[in-house]
Amino acid sequence: MCRVVYSERDLHIGSQAVVSYVLKSEFPSETLSLVAEEDTGDLRKDDARETLKRLTKLVNDTLATDETYIRSTLSAEDVLSAIDCGKSEGGSHGRHWVLDPIDGTKGFLRGDQYAIALALLDEGKVVLGVLACPNLPLAPIGIQALQSSQDKVGCLFSAKLGAGTEMQSLDGSPPVKVYVTSTENPEEASLFESYEAAHSSHDLSSTIAKKLGVKAPPVRIDSQAKYGALSRGDGAIYLRFPHKGYREKIWDHAAGYIVVTEAGGVASDAAGKPLDFSKGKYLDVDTGIIVTNQKLMPSLLKAVQDSLAEQSSSLKGHKWDTS
Ligand code: AMP
Ligand code: MG
Repeated sequence: MCRVVYSERDLHIGSQAVVSYVLKSEFPSETLSLVAEEDTGDLRKDDARETLKRLTKLVNDTLATDETYIRSTLSAEDVLSAIDCGKSEGGSHGRHWVLDPIDGTKGFLRGDQYAIALALLDEGKVVLGVLACPNLPLAPIGIQALQSSQDKVGCLFSAKLGAGTEMQSLDGSPPVKVYVTSTENPEEASLFESYEAAHSSHDLSSTIAKKLGVKAPPVRIDSQAKYGALSRGDGAIYLRFPHKGYREKIWDHAAGYIVVTEAGGVASDAAGKPLDFSKGKYLDVDTGIIVTNQKLMPSLLKAVQDSLAEQSSSLKGHKWDTS
């Protein structure tokens, strides 16, 4: 029998179909509103029949691994309609689920960090978040890593507004409450950022780290696993500075945001404004996203703003020199 080989896109879209189908089944009396990246687009075309067949098998095989859904057999049309539930635009009214079916695709392809990130918005506020990080060690990572030799991987973070954040192993250990680090000394603080320099300026975060007095080298990992790691105190700071013109999507931050804030962290844009998930599928942030604990936020914000001001005056100077 020949083994089916799934593409990264099959897994991405298949993950969305599974989560969407399960949400519909768990809340049968509600009309599912899901804000997510994928739609069926090309999958409804005649020449996509083989792809759709493969995807339907993937979805059914995945559902069959869970006792509750072992008897669910979806048709190709069921799979398409589950995927198409993800067309919602979100917003400030009502309840909307927000899904990134595979966040950190580049990390996933490298065999590094990635996450399945699901959040619930209620009247524009994130009230629930679940972050599954299949490759994240249960033991601390980053500069804390030396303290433990435990090598079990696969973490599930979950957070509910006002109820804190919990972590458990993906194979089902009892959940434990987690908290961000309480350090107020930047010299002890380690900093997380994107692995991909194309997603966040490593130069700018290095300037900020120097200004703040951070000693340790940055920890670079993909996906919202960074929010999970911060929520359990692996590091103290997460900086994200996308290049000009990039618009952040809510599914890249909603689950991570509540996981870290319910663990005692704070997240804002580079101007110090809280993140606002009520504006539809984009997160309109000023320049970047910064995350840390309450005590470090004022000095981090100052270091960020001073570094941005220096960057902007050196760019102006550069323009002047070359004109
Ligand atoms: P990370 O792994 O933290 O670097 O973030 C991964 C997410 O970055 C992906 O899910 C993408 O949605 C998003 N992304 C894609 N292109 C860019 C970009 N040019 N700048 C910032 N983020 C991006
Ligand atoms: Mg993503």
